[in-house]
Amino acid sequence: MNLILMGLPGAGKGTQAEKIVEKYDIPHISTGDMFRLAIKEGTELGQKAKSYMDEGALVPDEVTIGIVKERLSKDDCNKGFLLDGFPRTLAQAEALDQLLSDMNRSIDYVLHVEVEKDELVERLTGRRICPTCGTAYHVLFNPPKEEGICDKDGDTLIQREDDQPSTVKNRLEVNLEQTQPMLDFYSNKGDLVTINGSQEINEVFNDINEKLKTIS
Ligand SMILES: [Zn+2]
Repeated sequence: MNLILMGLPGAGKGTQAEKIVEKYDIPHISTGDMFRLAIKEGTELGQKAKSYMDEGALVPDEVTIGIVKERLSKDDCNKGFLLDGFPRTLAQAEALDQLLSDMNRSIDYVLHVEVEKDELVERLTGRRICPTCGTAYHVLFNPPKEEGICDKDGDTLIQREDDQPSTVKNRLEVNLEQTQPMLDFYSNKGDLVTINGSQEINEVFNDINEKLKTIS
């Protein structure tokens, strides 16, 4: 079961990733974890990646792809894997395709958890933080007892710059632009499965399960 999980920020991808790896017993492979492991193990590629990251530079694709290859070659991936956060661009998707083909493997499904942009903006701008104790609330999903006030210490909650509507919309636009060519690529290959992420968490997971059942 070789899977890629995609979705914009706020689509609930993380929650679904947890459920998938628990039920199907495959490793959840995020880009961050992959880099951390390679650096910890001190592999040549890990050291290269670290030198870029230390300079605050982007890790070049050839290094990233190499690290992905090392990770997917580990025993725990024999039954499959769930890639999350990689590939991030069309070039990476094409490189992954080639890499898997070299390993005599292929992607079964690209699960795209899709939520309308307006709903994502609503989800992503609802966060409120207590500046004193750091507790996070959400005006819709996890509101404080009294509007705008921290339950724990009574301080006035704030909205972070990152959660302001204009910042959120901009971030989503950039993300969408980068994602679309990849979605087209996987759609053309027949691997893309679009999951309605506007539903309740368990309903989203049910739809994913229905699809995964078809992999023998
Ligand atoms: Zn507080």
